[in-house]
Formats: sequence, structure tokens, C-alpha cells
Amino acid sequence: MLPKHSAFDSMQTRLKIAAELYGLEETLFKVFIQPLRSVIVSLPVHMDDGRWEVFTGYRVQHSTVRGPAKGGIRYDPGVTLDEIMAGAAWNTWKTAVVDVPFGGGKGGIICDPSTMSQGELERMTRRYTADIMDVIGADRDVPGIDMGTNSQIMAWVLDTYSMHARRTENAVVTGKPVGLGGSLGRTEATGRGILISAREAMQRLGKPLAGATLAVQGFGNVGSQTARLLHEAGARMIAVSDREGAIRNDRGIDVHALLKHHSETKTVKGFKGAEAMDPNDLLTMAVDILVPAATDNQITEHNAAKVRAKVVVEGANGPTTPEADPILLSNGVLVVPDILANAGGVTVSYFEWVQNRIGYYWREREVNEKLVEYMTHAFQAVFATTDKYKTNPRIGAYILALDRVSQAQHYRGFYA
Ligand code: NAD
Repeated sequence: MLPKHSAFDSMQTRLKIAAELYGLEETLFKVFIQPLRSVIVSLPVHMDDGRWEVFTGYRVQHSTVRGPAKGGIRYDPGVTLDEIMAGAAWNTWKTAVVDVPFGGGKGGIICDPSTMSQGELERMTRRYTADIMDVIGADRDVPGIDMGTNSQIMAWVLDTYSMHARRTENAVVTGKPVGLGGSLGRTEATGRGILISAREAMQRLGKPLAGATLAVQGFGNVGSQTARLLHEAGARMIAVSDREGAIRNDRGIDVHALLKHHSETKTVKGFKGAEAMDPNDLLTMAVDILVPAATDNQITEHNAAKVRAKVVVEGANGPTTPEADPILLSNGVLVVPDILANAGGVTVSYFEWVQNRIGYYWREREVNEKLVEYMTHAFQAVFATTDKYKTNPRIGAYILALDRVSQAQHYRGFYA
């Protein structure tokens, strides 16, 4: 039995609700409720001090019905098979919501990259890649960046895979350095998708983005890019937090100055242009837009009733628990669910894969324009489905995804 609030349990809970409302046939439900394949690998790595450390790694494919599995690799001490299974399933739904021809996958290694040298990280990454070589590939399963990994790690995945394959295969992984086949616009893609989602959501409320107040939880890749892009679009960020603490300034935080402070100190704490606040209060501030962009299980049955934001745009994966959903809904909070709101990252990863395969690279303007097109289209499709099924946008997004994945499965049938 999975513990309450395990990420995979949360995914299954939402899937069950959506499947019932959609009228999904039972066989398909039984297929979609579990991952397709889970690989667990044991990775002996020679550490700098001469010891051998043995790490555990995972690669899970939830679905390959619509195309190769797609999903990041996470390096974190808290990695569990459960969260990797949830991530793989979310990626199936996410790629279907934005309608890119991928399935869902996810990988991870239980490790603390902040305590490892570059050499140790490289040896661990190469061993992991070699061990999952049989299940990944440009046409099988395409890993990418997630928490704790970066473009250098993706470059090592590419090189290890290519050495074994005896050819340079840059479409095997996304999030690569631009000089190695990475796409322009990838670093800020998730934040840009959140910007587009926030603009569309405000439009639904008949309000402009310019002048809207904003609070952001988390200031990593997603949180910092979201803060910058929304700030540049005229929103006023009045609070932001990270693992170290939270800050607020009701007149608006100068995000460019904060980015400079963050690059020097690695935290938002101590920023001169704002005062310290209790991080627990950030999620319940009276703002127009709240972006949880840190980690999962942040808005729960314990604080959901106190959320006063008009719009919650889920930058993180799984920041709201299933118990919190109906509370937010009954309080009139418009939630743009994670599988839509943060899908900008996987969308530009798809663009990267396409550019690798055609061998022709787009200008950043072109990437950003295409992203607007995909995200706007997805947003409208999710809300049309939500209205059609008279449900909330999260279940609307799941139903839209289920419809697309089950249609593909119907065409393919089952090989038995
Ligand atoms: P990251 O590691 O770059 O940043 C995480 C940030 O959250 C850091 O600032 C950290 O200090 C902060 N944080 C962690 N726990 C916190 C807490 N309890 N309270 C406040 N702040 C806290 O990670 P990221 O890439 O920005 O990803 C953040 C979330 O977005 C994750 O859930 C990830 O799965 C999801 N996501 C990321 C991408 C992407 O392209 N990077 C795409 C889709 C979804």
C-alpha cells in the first residue's frame, strides 16, 4: 500500500476521477494506471577518495503509445521509485495535453549532487546511461533535465550513448548545451509556458497581466525564470521564497536586482530590496497570481482554505494534493494544473528533438513563437474540455490527455 500523498497515489487519484467522468473503458484504465516498464539499476562508482559507492538509479516508462517516452532525470537524495513512477505518468499526460508525439518517462538516481565532484558525477552518469542503454534512444525514450541535473550531465548521456551506438546520436537526450544540439529558448521554456498560462488565466477573469500582483514559491530554474518573465510582462512580484527563507515587498521586488543577488549568494534571503517574511505565509497571501514552483505537496487540506490568490499557476509538479483541489474550487480559485502550466519545458524539448532530427536549427524568436502557439492551443483545449465535462481544469486536463492517449491506443490495439 502506498503512503497517503505519495506522488504516484496523487496521480492515480486524479486519473480515477477523470477516467470515470470520461467513461474510459476498464481495460485501458488498467493499462494507464500502472507504468509500462520500470528499470532499477545498481551503479558502482569510483569516488575521488578511492572508495566504491553503489548508487541506485531508475528509469520508468509509463507510456509509449503516442511516441517515444519523454522525461527528465532527477539527481536527489530523496528520489524514490514512487515519485519517478508519478513523474513518468505525468509526462504521458503532459505530452498529450500539449499534443507533442511523445509518451511519458522519468528517471532518477538517489544521490546528493551538491556533495559530488564533477568527476564523480560524470562517472555515475556514464554508468547509469550504459545500464539503461537498452531502453533509451531517440525512438524509444528520450531523457532530459530535471532537479539536480543540467546540460553538462545531458552531454555526458549523449556521449556515452553515442560511444556505444558507434555514431553521434544527439536526439537521445534533450536539454543539451546549445553548441551540442540544444535548442535556443530551452532554459526559460518552462517559465515562458507559465507566463503564457498566467496571461490566459487572467484573461479568463477579464484582468490584464500588467499590474497583477504575484507571489512565487521557489527560485530555481522554474521560479526565477517565471519571476523574470512575469516581471518583464508588467506583473508586480511582492513575495518570493526558496529553501532558505522568504522575502516580501508590497511595492514590488526588482527581479533583475534579485537575480543578481541570487547569483552571488545562491539564495533570495538577505536581498536588500525586500524584508524577510515567514515562508509559510507566502502561499496564503492576497495576490492575483500564485506560482508554486518549488516542490510537491505544498497546498494541502491544511492550508487550501486560506489561499487567497485569484489564480494558482502550478510551476512545480504535484504542488497541490487531491484533498486540496475541491477546497480551492469551492473558494473560486482558478488553478492552472501542472500538466498544462509547466508543459513549456517538455514542449521546447520536443522542438530540440525535432531540430536534432532534421539537422536544422531555429532562431530563438521562432522557438518562442511556436511555444506560444502550442501553449495557447493547449490552454484553450483544456478549458474547453473542462467546460464540456463541467469539471475543474485539472480533471479537464486529464480528460483531454486520456482522450488523446486512448484514441492512439485504439488505433494501435493490443499486441497479444
Ligand atoms: P530547482 O532545483 O532549480 O529549484 C527548486 C527551488 O525551490 C529552489 O530555489 C529551492 O530552494 C526551492 N525550494 C525547495 N523546497 C522549497 C520549499 N519547501 N519552500 C520554498 N522553496 C523551496 O528545480 P526546478 O527545475 O526549478 O523545478 C522546480 C519544480 O518544477 C519541480 O517540481 C520540477 O519537477 C518542476 N518542473 C521543472 C521543469 C524544468 O524545466 N526545470 C519543468 C517542469 C516541471
